[in-house]
Amino acid sequence: MQPKRVRSAEAFEKACRVIPGGVNSPARAFGGVGGKPIFIARGEGAHLHDLDGNTYLDYVGSWGPLILGHCHPRVVRAVEEALHQGASFGAPTERETHLAELILRAVPSIEMVRMVSSGTEASMSALRLARGFTGRDVIIKFAGCYHGHVDSLLVAAGSSATTLGVPNSPGVPEGTTKDTLLLRYNDANALEDAFKVHGGRIAGVILEPVVGNMGLVEPRRDFLDALRRLTQHHGSLLIYDEVITGFRLAYGGAQERYAQKPDLTVLGKVVGGGLPVGAYGGRADIMKKVMPAGPVFQAGTLSGNPLAMAAGIATPEELRDNPPYDRLERLGAMLAEGLRQAADAAGLSHQVARVGSMWTLFFNPDPVTDYDVAKRSDTQRFARFFWAMMDRGVYLPCSQFEAAFLSAAHTAEHVQETLAAAREALAQVG
Ligand SMILES: *Cc1c(COP(=O)(O)O)cnc(C)c1O
Repeated sequence: MQPKRVRSAEAFEKACRVIPGGVNSPARAFGGVGGKPIFIARGEGAHLHDLDGNTYLDYVGSWGPLILGHCHPRVVRAVEEALHQGASFGAPTERETHLAELILRAVPSIEMVRMVSSGTEASMSALRLARGFTGRDVIIKFAGCYHGHVDSLLVAAGSSATTLGVPNSPGVPEGTTKDTLLLRYNDANALEDAFKVHGGRIAGVILEPVVGNMGLVEPRRDFLDALRRLTQHHGSLLIYDEVITGFRLAYGGAQERYAQKPDLTVLGKVVGGGLPVGAYGGRADIMKKVMPAGPVFQAGTLSGNPLAMAAGIATPEELRDNPPYDRLERLGAMLAEGLRQAADAAGLSHQVARVGSMWTLFFNPDPVTDYDVAKRSDTQRFARFFWAMMDRGVYLPCSQFEAAFLSAAHTAEHVQETLAAAREALAQVG
């Protein structure tokens, strides 16, 4: 039953000779599940086709951006049109204003926004701005939250840093993280204590309002409320990293879904529709400190790139005109319920965590509320499950610590197919 993966294996070997680990981002290397990655030939709607001609139902969606699925006609058309007008100018274009306006209308807490080229760049810039604006140095982050490979935030970062067991990367000087306070996610008391001791030194608190990077972890309401209350009281900025959740959990992101109002928001992934876009924005008085309006330096040769803006505009416009959110909620609920039943039937202790179109099947006896609990998951069993699903044509994130994604291209039939595969897979993983 196992599909051939010969050409992928050859391509991987060739890549390993010229690219470290054969990949340009570690999460792609299947380190968390063992074995070799498949090489992709093309994508189409909810499906991936690999070099060996196998087809997979895709729950990775390029790790989040592809909420419309692969090759959505509106996105393809927009990028094609832009390409023929010139790939890059290093001078302003109207598309940048257009996407900025779309973002402002979608996310009311964002009054001004700056485009960059990745989520990493956006969160790095938001931190610099928070420090520049407040004149303070300390940043609070939460264990298991990932904000890109920003030096000062590579402390207990989730995502591939977790899978590879590299909580602190070599090359990050101790001095760089000395102003980073690390707290437990969902722990309002610890947050309160930290503000009691360090309040006047804290520039900002950054978090994933719904975490995707330790597997899916939902925030507690009292935790979100404490974050807003304490930052406000102490003159610190509340920074929502909505790189995954923006335009995904609602058109206005997690902050719409949970009715919260951060000072700054970091965007990426969906906002670029599959092209390299990051963005950070928020209160106008803060954003006006960014150069050239203000003194906080930040720049980028390809920032606001026309092709990236075109894909970016097409994606939120399609999400605005044909909102998939109710449907994604129903599909997500169907998938989660089916997975629960399948794992129960197989007698495996598990937690199915889901918010909207984001989900994780944890092989864990306890509800996963923070990083310590997440790390107690049975990653060996996850690896067996992952490969059993691959053998049945379902492509899941290759780590227990990454959320899976539904897209608007997924259908109820796809979900039923997935559940049929999961019933078999779970029965055999032991
Ligand atoms: C992916 C991700 C980032 C980093 O974005 P890149 O585009 O990979 O640099 C930042 N924050 C969160 C929450 C992410 O999931």
